[in-house]
Amino acid sequence: MTLIHPDQPLTDASTPELLSSLLRDWHARAWVSGTGGGICGPTEDGNLFLAPTGVHKELVRPEDFFVVSPLDGHVVRQPATSGLRPSECNTIFGLIVRERGARSVAHSHALAAVLAADLADGADHLEIAGLEMLKGIRGLTNLDVHRVPVVDNTPREPELVAGLARALGDPRNAGAFAVLVRDHGAYIWGDDVWEAKRHVEVYHFLFEATVARHARRSKEGQR
Ligand SMILES: [Zn+2]
Repeated sequence: MTLIHPDQPLTDASTPELLSSLLRDWHARAWVSGTGGGICGPTEDGNLFLAPTGVHKELVRPEDFFVVSPLDGHVVRQPATSGLRPSECNTIFGLIVRERGARSVAHSHALAAVLAADLADGADHLEIAGLEMLKGIRGLTNLDVHRVPVVDNTPREPELVAGLARALGDPRNAGAFAVLVRDHGAYIWGDDVWEAKRHVEVYHFLFEATVARHARRSKEGQR
């Protein structure tokens, strides 16, 4: 496989390669384990490459990606591999693409995302502050208090759409490129695959750091 570099414009040949290499990397970090999680990225004609559902994410190959419409999620092109079904994230990815102008969205099942949502303690958002890595989110400085919306989980992934739509429509969440889902994980996006990759890495750091700090402070408070 050729190495894909951010300086090279992505094509319909290289985008699925990049998406499958990101899934391998994220699986190694336990962000998409147990067949959970997902990813999408843009085709050259404005549709989305979408990973299949119910498969081991580290084994998804470029030829396993569906092409779907971000407008209504209908399958524009089946993958070369037969017997696959499009990701359950389809409708949610489409919503984020339409509402936020995102062109690449990731879905994480990371433990740090679940524990970060716990810190919201029933509230509809989590505040993250005091970290240099905040600069890795578009538009932020290390002095900002960053508001990340938190929504309730549902029995099935597509049923998250209503909660996600409410969170994305709230002007107080305009600076967020992630939504936490309680007891479940997070959706994280960017303007292109490279920005989505950066945001995925930075948000996971922010979630881990915020959870670890909270645990340390609780322990100190008990002494
Ligand atoms: Zn999920």
